[in-house]
Amino acid sequence: QRFSIGLTGGIGSGKTTVANMFGELGASLVDTDAIAHQLTAPGGLAIASIRDHFGADFIDEHGAMDRARMRSHVFGNATARHALEAILHPLIRSETARAAEAATGDYVIFVVPLLVESGTWVGRASRILVVDCEEEVQIARVMQRNGLRRDEVEAIMAAQASRPARLAVADDVIENNGDAAGLLPRVRELHASYLELARAA
Ligand code: ATP
Repeated sequence: QRFSIGLTGGIGSGKTTVANMFGELGASLVDTDAIAHQLTAPGGLAIASIRDHFGADFIDEHGAMDRARMRSHVFGNATARHALEAILHPLIRSETARAAEAATGDYVIFVVPLLVESGTWVGRASRILVVDCEEEVQIARVMQRNGLRRDEVEAIMAAQASRPARLAVADDVIENNGDAAGLLPRVRELHASYLELARAA
C-alpha cells in the first residue's frame, strides 16, 4: 500500500484550501466527498442497488438518487440509514482505493471531512493530518461562504466531532487561523517530510 495522508478538519476549517496547496506541490488529491457524490449521480455505481433496495421512487428523472427524498426517508429511520450506508460505504471504500492506485503524484492525500466521525479510516492512511481552526474563525468563514446564520453553523459543528477529538487522532496539525498565505510555510514543511516518508515506504 502506498504512502498516503488522510486529511480532515471541521466544516470551514480549510481542508480544501490546504489540500489544493499540497496538490500544487505534487501530491495527488482523492476527494472522498466527490467520490461519494458520483456514486449516486446519474450512471453512478450505487444507483442500481438503491433502486433495488428502496424502489424506483428514489431515483429521479435523470437517473440520479433523489437526495431530498432519501434524506427525509432516512431521517430518524436507522434501518433505512444503515441500508443506505451498507450500499454506499463499500463502494466509497473501493472507489477511493482505486483512485489512489491510479494516482500519479508523489503521494496521495485523501480528503475526508468525516474521517474522525466515520471511524473506518483508522489504518487506511499512513498519517492523519488535521486542519485545525478556532471555532469562532470557523463560524465566521462558514457564515460568510454559505450565507448561514450563526446558529445554523453551530448546529452543523455540534453534529461533527469536537476539536479535541479530532486533534487526538492527528499525527500532524496545520493551524489555519490566519490568512491563507500564512499556511504555505507549514504546508511546504509537511510536504518535504511526506516526500521523504513516501520514498522510504
Ligand atoms: P468544508 O468542510 O465546509 O467543505 P473546508 O474545510 O474544505 O470546508 P475551505 O473550503 O478550504 O474549508 O475553507 C472554508 C472557507 O474559508 C472558504 O470560503 C475559504 O476560501 C475560506 N478560507 C479558508 N482558509 C482561509 C484563510 N486562512 N483565510 C481566509 N479565508 C480562508
